[in-house]
Amino acid sequence: MSTSGAVRRAYVETYGCQMNISDGELMEGILSAQGFQIVSSAEEADVVLVNTCAIREHAEQRVLGRVAQLGALKRDRPDMVIGVTGCMAQRLGEDLLDRAGHVDLVVGPDGYRGLPEALERLRAGEGPPPRNAARGRRRQLAVLDLDIVENYQGLEQRRKQGASAWVPIQRGCDHRCTFCIVPYVRGPEKNRDAAEVLAEIRSLADAGVSDVTLLGQTVNSYRWEDWDFASLLRAVARVDGIRRVWFTSPHPNDVTRELIDVMAEEPTVCETLHLPVQAGSDRTLKRMSRRYTVSSYLERVRMVRDTVPDMALTTDVIVGFPGESEAEFEATLGLMKEVRFDDAFTYKYSMREGTPASRLPSGDFVDPGDAQERLERLITVTRGIQAEINAREVGRVVEVLVEKEARGDGQMLGRTRRNKVVAFPADNDLIGSYQSVRLDRTTGATFVGSQVHDRVPTGVRG
Ligand code: SF4
Repeated sequence: MSTSGAVRRAYVETYGCQMNISDGELMEGILSAQGFQIVSSAEEADVVLVNTCAIREHAEQRVLGRVAQLGALKRDRPDMVIGVTGCMAQRLGEDLLDRAGHVDLVVGPDGYRGLPEALERLRAGEGPPPRNAARGRRRQLAVLDLDIVENYQGLEQRRKQGASAWVPIQRGCDHRCTFCIVPYVRGPEKNRDAAEVLAEIRSLADAGVSDVTLLGQTVNSYRWEDWDFASLLRAVARVDGIRRVWFTSPHPNDVTRELIDVMAEEPTVCETLHLPVQAGSDRTLKRMSRRYTVSSYLERVRMVRDTVPDMALTTDVIVGFPGESEAEFEATLGLMKEVRFDDAFTYKYSMREGTPASRLPSGDFVDPGDAQERLERLITVTRGIQAEINAREVGRVVEVLVEKEARGDGQMLGRTRRNKVVAFPADNDLIGSYQSVRLDRTTGATFVGSQVHDRVPTGVRG
């Protein structure tokens, strides 16, 4: 337990998407700049921040369970501060302080700059008393204002050392897909200054990072003065020392000719494109307010494949959206078979209060058993296609970035430029390096390979 004047220790535990992981690094950066020591477990910390996701009911339940566990830890350490940050903090707001009385602080995604001040105020005993007086004299604080300009310009993330880094270039979203809570908890789209993004990537490259992923909720709608996403991607791809560039998550409507040309022309941009389709029927897409049709989506897929035939395409799909008929679900299966994605993230619709879809007539909601059955059929189709695509990759010699140790003895895990994971025997001093690996067999979703020592990976497409 810290005493006044001692270094305070903070632990940030993150759930959810890459954007959240990146936000966790941002909070660690903000706190360490204020003298906090960042530690790797709640048990060691004076301040624990649980950085949350609100995209599905299940994610929130998981976090509430974790917050309850931390409450038990706090019983022996009453000075410990527990904060909940991120999308679920924004969604539940002060209700969370009522529901989980041991939580001291809730901070939404636009409030991280103010974290040190909020923690200082709690330490000084400022802030309103708990709404439940039985909880004693402890104070609770909520920092929940959404900010139309906050893009965390000028603040540094605290990144783990290694070859890879996520670089947020955009926050929030201007779309209003009817199932999605993001615009309500992360606010409107806010882009970062292109010059700052490039300066950050140059300094990451100087520090040994060679693999960067540009992040944004609809990353390819990025705009800053004269820059659009295609021009920024080209500039990032040309930073000295950068060998692999990825981005996520693009919106299909902003996949332009220029963007695909940059992907084709810049050797450091990897042959992977995540293109969330969500559904395969125009009526469902319209009810989701996705702003494209099946045919305009397929047109973009064609444009991508005509230009970069080896592009690995992945997607997101929701089944059981309110009103989805069996025939409409089958249209989704048909689209999956037509496009043949390398991978798909598949979900059952999860109702989020406050979203337009939550207000659809109750009779529209798909029976949970039917939704589960549709999900299982979708997964079977997706996995079958993935296994066929991967079987055709067996025998290729590819460049992998070695990322970490695999579970098996002496096995390492690497990632190809088509975002496929390969396990192969190697020493762990290869972590962070690029190696040539032959894909010997596939498990369906991943590969088992072996190093090819007489080929020096070039870092450009083979
Ligand atoms: S584009 Fe749609 S699904 Fe994606 S974050 Fe915005 S509202 Fe949500």
